[in-house]
Amino acid sequence: MNAEIIAVGSELLLGQIVNSNARFISRQLADLGINVYYHTVVGDNTDRLKSAIEVAETRADLLIFTGGLGPTKDDLTKETIARHLETELELDNDALVSIEEYFARTRRTMTENNKKQALVLKGSKILQNEHGMAPGMLYQGEQHKYMLLPGPPKEMEPMFLKYGHSALQLNKDDEEVIMSRVLRFFGIGEAMLETEIMDILDAQDNPTIAPLAGDSEVTLRLTAKHAQSQTALEMLNETEEKILSRVGTYFYGYDDTSLVAELSKSLVDNKLTIAAAESLTGGMFQKEFTSIAGAGSLLKGGVVCYTNEVKAKVLKVKHKTIENDGVVSAQCAAELAENVADIMNADIGISFTGVAGPDELEGHPAGTVYIGLSLKGHPTKVEKLNLGGGRAAVRTRSVLYGCHFLLK
Ligand code: ATP
Ligand code: MG
Repeated sequence: MNAEIIAVGSELLLGQIVNSNARFISRQLADLGINVYYHTVVGDNTDRLKSAIEVAETRADLLIFTGGLGPTKDDLTKETIARHLETELELDNDALVSIEEYFARTRRTMTENNKKQALVLKGSKILQNEHGMAPGMLYQGEQHKYMLLPGPPKEMEPMFLKYGHSALQLNKDDEEVIMSRVLRFFGIGEAMLETEIMDILDAQDNPTIAPLAGDSEVTLRLTAKHAQSQTALEMLNETEEKILSRVGTYFYGYDDTSLVAELSKSLVDNKLTIAAAESLTGGMFQKEFTSIAGAGSLLKGGVVCYTNEVKAKVLKVKHKTIENDGVVSAQCAAELAENVADIMNADIGISFTGVAGPDELEGHPAGTVYIGLSLKGHPTKVEKLNLGGGRAAVRTRSVLYGCHFLLK
């Protein structure tokens, strides 16, 4: 089965909103093992929507529409599809009741055109909208399957999560289970990772292995298909093992996790607190860390020590260090990490000092970064990086590397 996603809405064509629905649905379909060959975007126009449907029918089995299910005049997706399929729209009583209830609950007055939202394609399966009014629909045509979803992501996403998997897996010829898993890697480029596992990639069949280069990281999506879920799981495990035996040192987590989320988990598990001294990152490490729910209590605190004065006065970096080694130095990073841990009474101290750019500092080029790591009872470690990509990238990547070094 292969699918085409048709996003309806002139605001998409005008660049007022991004087609995040197509992205979300595509990712979900990848998990289901359904290929997506085309994304189409079309404005709120009956003729052009109709021709988009005709084109899609020549190249896809499943047509998924988002948008245009609302009450207003420009919402014409289901009207157009009904005409195209030569079927009717009929009032769905359950949908009407839930729309009336929605209005009663929110103490708003229902207008006549809201009833339009209870009109559904005759013969379709209704997908309930738990976060809005317009119901979704699943319609089985002679040769194609049509799925109609509302435009607002907060309505569409839960609807797809609730119905999508069973609705789309049900009608497949085989009753295969599809299981997928994402492996996340940091500190290795996409090209290098692919080179390391080239033979595994070349030989892939089931599970399939799809590499993706993200923001400073690389992921591999493994997808296995089998009649038995246990076997599919074993196939995933086996492939994962093979891959990690080559590039395991760069692996940090599964699926939707992030480096900072893994770091916070590991600190919770090990009952360790942390404090940060941030020069070039200006508090970004602490911002990221505190964005993870529950991580707050692990972070004792931190200092944005952008100037030499604060490094010396608040964080007690020796004058000798600043004069002889400079602030872009391993010695400065080490003192910052040790002293911030000491002052804040934390188990771990982490420090970031370096040159964000664009200008050089103390004769070091932009992208030179030292990260200090002090852990109670262990010798202090300092990692030196030479990062590229401009000021913003140097700062964000410094934070990611900091998390990465702490995880190691
Ligand atoms: P409503 O009942 O809210 O009118 P609808 O199903 O008619 O919903 P649209 O009118 O097409 O949907 O879009 C409503 C809103 O949903 C848009 O203003 C936009 O914020 C969001 N939206 C629509 N399509 C997309 C899309 N493809 N990706 C992301 N957001 C979208
Ligand atoms: Mg609308």
